Amino acid sequence: MKHNNHQPICPKCGYDQSGEIATWETQCPIEGVCTECGFEFQWFMILNPVRGHLRWFVEHSPTRRFTIKSSLLTLWMVLIPNRFWRRVGVERPVYPRRIWMWVCLLVMASYCISVLLGTSIQIIRTDYMNQEYTLMMTQYPQYANQLKANLVDMFEFSYWASVARASIADPIVMTQSISQAGLGFCFVLLMTILMWFVVICATPVTRQLVKLRLAHISRAMALCLIAPLIVLLTSNVSSGAIIIEGMLRPPTAVPSQGLEPTLLMLIGVLGAVSLVWVQWFWMAAYIKAWRVRSNLLLALAVFTSLLGGFTVFVYMLAY
Ligand SMILES: [Zn+2]
Repeated sequence: MKHNNHQPICPKCGYDQSGEIATWETQCPIEGVCTECGFEFQWFMILNPVRGHLRWFVEHSPTRRFTIKSSLLTLWMVLIPNRFWRRVGVERPVYPRRIWMWVCLLVMASYCISVLLGTSIQIIRTDYMNQEYTLMMTQYPQYANQLKANLVDMFEFSYWASVARASIADPIVMTQSISQAGLGFCFVLLMTILMWFVVICATPVTRQLVKLRLAHISRAMALCLIAPLIVLLTSNVSSGAIIIEGMLRPPTAVPSQGLEPTLLMLIGVLGAVSLVWVQWFWMAAYIKAWRVRSNLLLALAVFTSLLGGFTVFVYMLAY
């Protein structure tokens, strides 16, 4: 059996409870209060944190592996921050390395999707252009030689190598409006997330106010990155759809009636919803999970976060 060398600490602030345990003489009480932060807890959660594991939560996965089922369940729960943070309170064990690894896996998965998408689009586009040139060669036989020079041999290794290289180096599928909007929202969201972290952790005064282990804030940071990731992936897929639609559309069609305006609006709505979600997510963590009492700090964090996001937005509009 594995030896349990776990150190009994307050799940919220990390204060060592060994001193308190040393005062027990005959029996262990059921409930306790941290003398450092005032957090009320049940002793079994501190002595045996594994009992606080949640079955659906990817961070607490019993097999120590990230399964698709627990990943999907976690994403589903995170979607509504109040529900998520009510269940994942500070009394639950926290493993920052696992949650960051999971988020890194999500980033890698969306990178792979984007590379595959970029590669497919380049191949479809080359094939389309080849067909166009072949058609023109039959229509204008006198220019056949010049047109033939434009044909790309898709069976050559060098072609595939260049396509793969281009997609791996630049996985963002570029169309003017959509990818710019997607990237813009992504930077704004990253800034709002960073500002929450800065306000809570930057000064000893705020750290003293929240009295929270860094691991809890780290978990919130990691999970929050899902929002910019989804925006970026959606804008990438939308860009790909627009490029393919452009090739399928008859030359006489009006561009403004295509997919682009609809998808641009979708990215706009998704970006705005994500901005609200990020604020909701941190506020729910602050109130429901961490149970910090300072309303002033909460207001300051929301204000700084929105100001940071707005500054990035204005900066991106200007340049
Ligand atoms: Zn404590």
